[in-house]
Amino acid sequence: MSLETALKGIGLVTVVWFLFWALVAMGPLGWIVLGPILLIGIVQVYRKRDERRRQNHAASTAGVQNCPDCGAPNDPERTECKHCSVEL
Ligand SMILES: [Zn+2]
Repeated sequence: MSLETALKGIGLVTVVWFLFWALVAMGPLGWIVLGPILLIGIVQVYRKRDERRRQNHAASTAGVQNCPDCGAPNDPERTECKHCSVEL
């Protein structure tokens, strides 16, 4: 393990440790206030990731040509279908 990874791991553990004790110190009132905020934050992060993944997928499927015979997607530089060898 490199030093950088070790430091990152220690940093992460420290942050989690502080968050844990901050939550314990705040008590139920803090959980009620922070819980929904954290949940919304997590949902937003996942949504953004999903969006980015969808955009990447759209970009990767753009520029393909479908085989006129079997409909399989082929790279634009191909001259024959990779599935049925029909000329594109
Ligand atoms: Zn084909």
